[in-house]
Amino acid sequence: MPRVPVKIVGWDEIVEWSRGLAEKVESSGYTPDVIVAVARGGYVPARLLCDFLDVNDLLSVQSQHWVEAARAAEKAILKYPYKVDLSGKKVLLVDDIVDTGETLLLARDYIAREWRPESVRIAVLQWISSVAKFEPDYYHLEVKDWTWFQYPWTRLEDLQQFIARMLREDEELKTMSLIPLGLLEEKFVEWYGVRPGDFGSYWPLALRRLEMKGVIRREPGGIRKTL
Ligand code: AMP
Repeated sequence: MPRVPVKIVGWDEIVEWSRGLAEKVESSGYTPDVIVAVARGGYVPARLLCDFLDVNDLLSVQSQHWVEAARAAEKAILKYPYKVDLSGKKVLLVDDIVDTGETLLLARDYIAREWRPESVRIAVLQWISSVAKFEPDYYHLEVKDWTWFQYPWTRLEDLQQFIARMLREDEELKTMSLIPLGLLEEKFVEWYGVRPGDFGSYWPLALRRLEMKGVIRREPGGIRKTL
């Protein structure tokens, strides 16, 4: 078992899952006037739901819980808590996944209290039922075994964090300063259960970004930790 099980999600899956989610909303008879995307993970699904459900009005709130890929912060926070009047409107609040559910609960309570819509329902692509604090009104897939879903809109971000975390925490890598690329790749599979090659051109890009940030230096045949 990898230390952090990762599943790479492709763009086609996102479209398919969003369509499946839209069908569930539609068949329930709920007709949202406004879709609210939870930034940042809910943006792409929310935009697709606008298309599939024929909704023009798209707003956003930024609620944040996970500070790093596969690492939750203590508490969810709402950034930029602005106010709008949604009285008489039916809202569909959209995010990618309910993991702990903290992010969405915070966003839902804020919207219900401050924006005063007629109703708010929650729709997500995935619901991790074994850990979530609540069941969303609509979900496309139920997940039982906790997994980090590597969505296409956070490839580079996640990959950098995966590598940095491994460099910090892996017992063997911790003690090495020059790490051969082959070993780095082997360790990556051990940690995350997916191969660097599965990320295509994102892998070299992530190494380049980490170098720009001063975390590593790329050398012929390997990388050197600089932090
Ligand atoms: P949570 O508050 O725990 O329900 O998660 C908040 C946000 O963090 C989600 O909307 C995702 O953007 C991200 N996230 C949390 N858990 C996962 C996961 N297992 N896989 C991918 N993204 C996740």
